[in-house]
Amino acid sequence: MGDVSGSAGAQGRSFGGLPEPLYAASPSRLLTWLDCPRRYRMTYLDRPRPVPRRQRAHTSLGLSVHNALRDWWDLPDGDRTPSAAAELLGTGWIDVGFRDADQSGSWRDRMRGAVTAYVQGLNPDAHPLGVERAVAMVTGQLRLHGRVDRLDDRAGELIVVDYKTGRRPPTEDDARFSLPLALYAAAVWKMFRRPCVRVELHHVPTGTVAAHTHTPQSLSNRVEEARSIAVDARGAERDYARAGTGSGRFPPRPSPLCTWCDLRAHCPEGQAVGPEQPDWAGLDPQDLPPDASGPGAASVT
Ligand code: SF4
Repeated sequence: MGDVSGSAGAQGRSFGGLPEPLYAASPSRLLTWLDCPRRYRMTYLDRPRPVPRRQRAHTSLGLSVHNALRDWWDLPDGDRTPSAAAELLGTGWIDVGFRDADQSGSWRDRMRGAVTAYVQGLNPDAHPLGVERAVAMVTGQLRLHGRVDRLDDRAGELIVVDYKTGRRPPTEDDARFSLPLALYAAAVWKMFRRPCVRVELHHVPTGTVAAHTHTPQSLSNRVEEARSIAVDARGAERDYARAGTGSGRFPPRPSPLCTWCDLRAHCPEGQAVGPEQPDWAGLDPQDLPPDASGPGAASVT
C-alpha cells in the first residue's frame, strides 16, 4: 500500500537553522481556514479571543446525542440496553439555545426516541475499538489531530464512524468527500499499522448510514490536500506573528454562512450579509429563509 502520510518532506528549518515546530491542526481548523480566514484568525490566533455568541440549539442537541452514545459504551456489560441509552440522553440533555422549555422538551423526547432506536441496531457486546478516540499523525510539517466518534473493528476491518444529528441525512458523497473522515482514517491506519479505508456517517435521528470505502491513493490525496491547506495557513500565521491584526492575510469571506457565524458580532462584513439566524434555526426547516444553508442544514456536529 502507499504511504497515507503523504510524501514526507525534509524537516523544516526556520531562520537561523533552528528546526521549525510542527504546525498542529485538527481537520476543523483546516476547514475553518478554507471557509473564512477572518474567522480562523479570530478563533485560533487573536488573544484575548473574541467572545463567541452563545451556543445554538442544534449544537446542544448534537452534543447531547454524542455524549449519550459515548457514555452508553462506558456502561458495564449487561447494562448497555436501549432504555439505558434513553436515560442517558434524558439526564444529559443540554438545555441551551432553544426557543423555550417546550421546544427543548420536544426535541429531547425526539432524540431520546432516536437514540433508543439507534442502539437497538447495535450489538452491545461488540465493544468498539475506540469511543471518542483521540487520533493523530505527523505528515511533513503538519501534525494532524482529532477525535473519532467511534472506531469499529468489524471482522478485522477498521471503520471510522462519525455520528450526525443534522436535519438532512448525509449522503454517500458526504462520506466520500469529507476531509475530516479521510484524515481520521489515515491517522488510524498509521496509529494501528493496519489498513483503514472505510468511513461511515451514522445519522442518529433516522438511523441511516452513508458510507464510503477509500483507496490508499484517495487517502494519500486527502492527506496531501491537508498539507497544502496547512502550508497556506501557516504562512498566514507567520505574517500574523509579524503584523498582528494588521496582517492582510486574513480577509473576511462573506457568504450565507455568516448568518450562522459564532463570531459575526466582531465582523462588520459578515453582519452586512443579512440578519443572524435565531438560536434554534438549525432545528426546524420552517424557521429558515428558503435560501439559507449552514451548519444546521448540513450537519450539527
Ligand atoms: S461573519 Fe462571515 S466573514 Fe465574518 S468571520 Fe464569520 S464567516 Fe467570516
